[in-house]
Amino acid sequence: MPELPEVETTLRGIAPHITGRAVTGVVVRQPKLRWPIPDNLTELLHQQPLSGISRRGKYLLLHFPGGILLIHLGMSGSLRIVTEAMPALFHDHVDLAFGEVILRYCDPRRFGCLLWVEGDPQEYALLRHLGPEPLTEAFSGEYLYERSRKRNLPVKQFIMTNDIVVGVGNIYANESLFMARIKPIRKAGSLTRKNCDDLVRDIKFVLERSITQGGTTLRDFVGGDGKPGYFQQQLLVYGRAGKPCPECSKPLKEVRMGGRSTVYCTDCQR
Ligand SMILES: [Zn+2]
Repeated sequence: MPELPEVETTLRGIAPHITGRAVTGVVVRQPKLRWPIPDNLTELLHQQPLSGISRRGKYLLLHFPGGILLIHLGMSGSLRIVTEAMPALFHDHVDLAFGEVILRYCDPRRFGCLLWVEGDPQEYALLRHLGPEPLTEAFSGEYLYERSRKRNLPVKQFIMTNDIVVGVGNIYANESLFMARIKPIRKAGSLTRKNCDDLVRDIKFVLERSITQGGTTLRDFVGGDGKPGYFQQQLLVYGRAGKPCPECSKPLKEVRMGGRSTVYCTDCQR
């Protein structure tokens, strides 16, 4: 599943090719995504110049004079830059042409979306309740400490809650909790201020490292029919249940939390 680092890498991969250019054509081959693509998308975007692309959580915001095209990659979506000569494949549901440059949206499982937003995007229903961006100063140890008071939710699920902080996916939650030496099943309300400082620092670290690694894949966004932006990472605990803890060598334990694999060291994480 594309996580925040993949979405950020997608932004950096596609933006230089289409920013400042006007939409010259729209092809929708399959409008039935998680929500239907607006059937007047061609008229909305016709000859509209793209002034820029931003990201909020895992949403990409393509800014046009008349509004914003909001794109989510869902479970399996990707965006890449192609030319007309590249034939569309079965799951390539949408093309936005910017002259000879085409932004192509592929989404095999169709859990993603392309929606049109007018007015302030921060007030839009899908974005309004989102917590701070993890890589901004608004997401601090002090903030996490305040928000976690009296919360009985396990800390792993707490930091994966979008209205607390956006973009901390399952892998990043597992990894950052190991680095901060915090047991994932602990109640969020039991975190000390130092725990919160450590956890915020390590969440930022794992996300930034992943974005940096993604930077090496930027050319994958141009041409080809692969799936750009999903990258392998060096992982300490995620996917390593039963294997030795990198710190103390004791076998790592796995439990399911909210249906998601949760791996931790019963000795190093408290
Ligand atoms: Zn250990």
